[in-house]
Amino acid sequence: MTKMYWQNDVDPTLLPQLNVAIIGYGSQGRAHALNLRDSGARVQVGLREGGKSWKAAQNDGFEPVTPKAAVKGADIVAILVPDLAQPELLSLEILPFAQSNTSLLFAHGFNIHFEFVDVPKHFDVMMVAPKGPGQLVRRQFVEGRGVPSLFAIHQDHSGRAKDRALAYAHGIGGTRAGVIETSFAEETNTDLFGEQAVLCGGVTELVTAGFETLVDAGYAAEVAYFECLHELKLIVDLLYEGGLEKMHETISDTAKYGDLTRGPRVVDENVRARMKTILSEIESGQFAREWQAEYQAGGNHYDELMQKDLAHPIEDVGRSLRSQMSWLKQPQAAHT
Ligand code: NAD
Ligand code: MG
Repeated sequence: MTKMYWQNDVDPTLLPQLNVAIIGYGSQGRAHALNLRDSGARVQVGLREGGKSWKAAQNDGFEPVTPKAAVKGADIVAILVPDLAQPELLSLEILPFAQSNTSLLFAHGFNIHFEFVDVPKHFDVMMVAPKGPGQLVRRQFVEGRGVPSLFAIHQDHSGRAKDRALAYAHGIGGTRAGVIETSFAEETNTDLFGEQAVLCGGVTELVTAGFETLVDAGYAAEVAYFECLHELKLIVDLLYEGGLEKMHETISDTAKYGDLTRGPRVVDENVRARMKTILSEIESGQFAREWQAEYQAGGNHYDELMQKDLAHPIEDVGRSLRSQMSWLKQPQAAHT
């Protein structure tokens, strides 16, 4: 079994000695900056002047500076802007201004693995990738828990890359939930595959296809919504807590028999074959090059696809039903 790192595996004296620059204040950036500050690191937030994250960082008590200024004197520079924006930012605003032995830290291996950026040898290149969105990384931390995280070392010039990566993973709460060492290649390929085939692409297509099947057959959209989307959370919670076994213990015999006999007909050999194709497009770099070309061309096709996705009828019925779900309206806890 792969070694997991927990709180006791980390030297607690290291983090308070580190100057950490967090570049970007979105989903991951905000969570990392707040968690690391609460864990005792010296955190400097680096942002584009006047950008909309600037105000958000100020509201959280940071005094943001430009990326250039933030990397000066930093031991760790965490690159937490969108993946496709990273190469330009690194070459113009970060690499020329960082001191030797700075550890560049990524939350996803995309640009290093696919060689979209070229980092000089006198820097460390590391990754700490929480396996969850930034909002959860922050919320769990505030509640005394953490999000399981991966770390990887691509380049170790300082000789301290592993200690720094673990200190950082510890600081954002990762060691409360277990931290596993991986490679940039493994993290990148599995992360992309997971979000494409299962978590984002796969699940949403399964949900909308099920919804359409019921609605096209004349069933009420509200009923279809509850069956195909709403109840998914209850099933996922059971899987999360206790795997297939716990789900099976909880659902009815009829549901189990339907699952065992019908599930494999929905996700059949053809689906598995297409999953393999999708994985090989990721591994060959074809997906990464396609996405980079789309981004550089202005992202029109991407915007079109997004508009089409959001225009699906499941969104209308969902909005209307969710507006009546009082438990969804509770305000977010303060200071998360
Ligand atoms: P985000 O889109 O939430 O945040 C982006 C931040 O960068 C914002 O502060 C934004 O103002 C700034 N920004 C946007 N465009 C920029 C540009 N062109 N130049 C400079 N700054 C710009 O990003 P995110 O989702 O937190 O992703 C950051 C990194 O974390 C990525 O490498 C991503 O793969 C990784 N990651 C994200 C998640 C997630 O759930 N969101 C999970 C794990 C890893
Ligand atoms: Mg989809």
